[in-house]
Amino acid sequence: MTDLATRSDNPVLLPVAPAAPLPLRRPRPARLRDGDVAAVLAATAFLTTATWARHGGVDQLLAGGNETWTSIARLSGLLASVAGLLGLVLVARARTLERRYGLDHLLVWHRYLGGTMAVALAVHVGAGFAAWLTPDQGVLSTVADLTGRVPYMAPATVGALLVAVVTVSSLRSIRRRLSYETWYFVHLTAYLGLALAFAHELYLGTDLRDDTVARALFVAAHVVVLGALVWGRWGRLVAAALHPLRVTDVTPLVPGTVSLTLGGPNLARIEADAGQFALLRPLRRRLWWQAHPYSLAAAPTSAGLRFTVKDRGDASGALTRLPVGTRVVVEGPYGTLTPEVFDEGRALLVAGGVGVAPVRALLEWLPTTARPVVLLRARSADELVHLEELRVLAAQRGGAVHALVGRTVSLGVDPFDPAVLRRAVPDLAGRTAVVYGPESLLHAAHRGLRDAGMPTEHIHCERPWW
Ligand SMILES: Cc1cc2nc3c(=O)[nH]c(=O)nc-3n(C[C@H](O)[C@H](O)[C@H](O)COP(=O)(O)OP(=O)(O)OC[C@H]3O[C@@H](n4cnc5c(N)ncnc54)[C@H](O)[C@@H]3O)c2cc1C
Repeated sequence: MTDLATRSDNPVLLPVAPAAPLPLRRPRPARLRDGDVAAVLAATAFLTTATWARHGGVDQLLAGGNETWTSIARLSGLLASVAGLLGLVLVARARTLERRYGLDHLLVWHRYLGGTMAVALAVHVGAGFAAWLTPDQGVLSTVADLTGRVPYMAPATVGALLVAVVTVSSLRSIRRRLSYETWYFVHLTAYLGLALAFAHELYLGTDLRDDTVARALFVAAHVVVLGALVWGRWGRLVAAALHPLRVTDVTPLVPGTVSLTLGGPNLARIEADAGQFALLRPLRRRLWWQAHPYSLAAAPTSAGLRFTVKDRGDASGALTRLPVGTRVVVEGPYGTLTPEVFDEGRALLVAGGVGVAPVRALLEWLPTTARPVVLLRARSADELVHLEELRVLAAQRGGAVHALVGRTVSLGVDPFDPAVLRRAVPDLAGRTAVVYGPESLLHAAHRGLRDAGMPTEHIHCERPWW
């Protein structure tokens, strides 16, 4: 008998079923533990205070008059530098930190450390001024000394002013009036501010000037953080830019919202999980210089990374109109709200507006026994993208989708009232919730779920970072 399949002169072409898309590699969990981070923080605080105390900081503090102010200026100056340095560590996007805490938490803590640095810097400037002021010279002469006449103080003054501008621009009331990009680029000048202050820290403060070991440690810490920052922010960005994905599909879902799929050979390099988000940077004129976050709207597979993009402004609007084939740089994906967050517990997924995208992705990777409940909130039916898909995915897992549509004022009911939540999800207290949507919804849902009896450690959301 002839084996038809091996005869080269008469090949038999059997129909080949298209290969099912394979899941992309999932990011490995972080090895870091909370205790490791706490230990580093405690050691840093101890070393800083010990350096100041070892150089007579406590005696000087108790001496009174200018000596006391000098001591306060020394300690607050050291604390301001250390807070600034730790703040930079958080935005260096170190993989292990990101996998442990998520980019959103790191950026929020970066904001807190920035605030701490600004307060310590204000104390440093005030105490330094009081320490320098003597009866022999007036206020103006002291200001002239501290802003220029004393070596290294002119750049340090400019640095402090830059940090002050960044701090003011980050106040909630001011930040809301700025576009993200304006705020972001103003924010970057804080790096210059820290660099300008560096020399005065080394050569004017007695703690570093007169102690070779402390100075060496201080310089080494700056070199390490700078290296991590350059690699984490720019090195990774260049690597991603050299291996962009391409737009393979743009499908309108509802007016102003599209499903965007990115794929191509470089997809194989990406590790991603449902529930994560990526920073997308289309390589097109006027768009390449800004990156915006978008959640994966489908479990990531070799078929591509799928996003649901709503036109909310210049950048997102342009993204909804990208031609197929456009190269897009993908940073990340980031985020820790992956399926593991539910552990063995049952899932409650709460979403408002386009926040529905990551819910869709998570549902795809929940086990068929999960019995998830999805609560959707939208101001109009138009906003309810993916509703039918969600219903199918939830039903396949023994769960349900509840949608509440309409403006809160006209509904006559607060959708996140604890009683309303308990009625919709009677076993709410035993579930784990993830919440996606605008900041106001995150707060309202968090409060409602907590008051309805869900332990706060079971309520998760991407924290708004600016
Ligand atoms: C973790 C996360 C996941 C997101 N997932 C999705 C998604 O799946 N689909 C979707 O349509 N939208 C998503 N967004 C929102 C999306 O990033 C914004 O709609 C987009 O950045 C708007 O930019 P713009 O220039 O078009 O509009 P703008 O008018 O500049 O901004 C509109 C709003 O988006 C916010 N915003 C702008 N740029 C950024 C930025 N770089 N980082 C954080 N916030 C920013 C602004 O605060 C403003 O409230 C997500 C946001 C975050 C933080």
